[in-house]
Amino acid sequence: MVIIENISETTEFLKNQIKNGKSIGFVPTMGALHQGHIALVEKAKLENDIVVCSIFVNPTQFNNPEDLKKYPRTLEEDCKMLQVAGCDLVFAPSAEEMYEETPVLKIDFGYLEQILEGKFRPGHFNGVGIVVSKLFNIVKPTKAYFGQKDLQQVAVVKRLVKDLSFDLELIVCDTIRESDGLAMSSRNRRLSSSAREVAPKIFESLLIGQKYLFEGLNVEETKQKVVEWYENSPEFTLEYYEIVEADTLNPIEKKHEGQKTAIVIAAFLDGVRLIDNIVF
Ligand code: AMP
Repeated sequence: MVIIENISETTEFLKNQIKNGKSIGFVPTMGALHQGHIALVEKAKLENDIVVCSIFVNPTQFNNPEDLKKYPRTLEEDCKMLQVAGCDLVFAPSAEEMYEETPVLKIDFGYLEQILEGKFRPGHFNGVGIVVSKLFNIVKPTKAYFGQKDLQQVAVVKRLVKDLSFDLELIVCDTIRESDGLAMSSRNRRLSSSAREVAPKIFESLLIGQKYLFEGLNVEETKQKVVEWYENSPEFTLEYYEIVEADTLNPIEKKHEGQKTAIVIAAFLDGVRLIDNIVF
């Protein structure tokens, strides 16, 4: 496995692979890797000749400077995990390498950035759109792997690929969870032990919502019951809990049979912002 920090060496390495007819599987990450990331790498390994993983804590997608500062950085450990998973190239650039100048380009995802994560993290998806486009241009992947854990990011990247005609296939992978249901996240390591103990309630609240919908409650009734349920858990500050159509993220009033539905949540616990979702 090679670890490369600069763009030109990365493109040179990959140009040779492409010339030799190799397919390239790409897993973009911000590092502090866990089994959720590794599952993407393993899938990429099965489906491609070469696997590239990028590790870059992208400053332009953080609307909160404190969050950026506190984002865990564990490059050495990450590389060990990637080596075991069979990754071929780690692209780990500095912010200066990625952004010689602050980008002036603004990508507007319309409705997709006015809701949920977009609403609470202004500018976030512009930053995601720019960095993902740059990474796609540098790596030129055959297939790119993203986690359903970031459902809205998946919707945004799908639009990006379509609107900008990126010649690649997007592969969306299931959310990997701890045994108690907590979705794996680099942010989990910032939780105190008492917060970590209650953190699975986030996933539990998604399953409760799903149960109410299956029992025939409409979206408003379901949301109200879940919000009441959270009143007994003052350690959580709910940012949103929404029930939407899974692909478009359009609001729905009631779950209809055969309709792909998602329940999405963002909550603060112990000062750490956690997101999760289920699709059914
Ligand atoms: P991040 O490093 O948080 O930007 O995540 C990099 C990629 O890993 C994104 O496509 C995420 O959706 C995906 N990912 C993060 N956590 C998980 C998880 N628990 N299960 C599956 N994929 C994940």
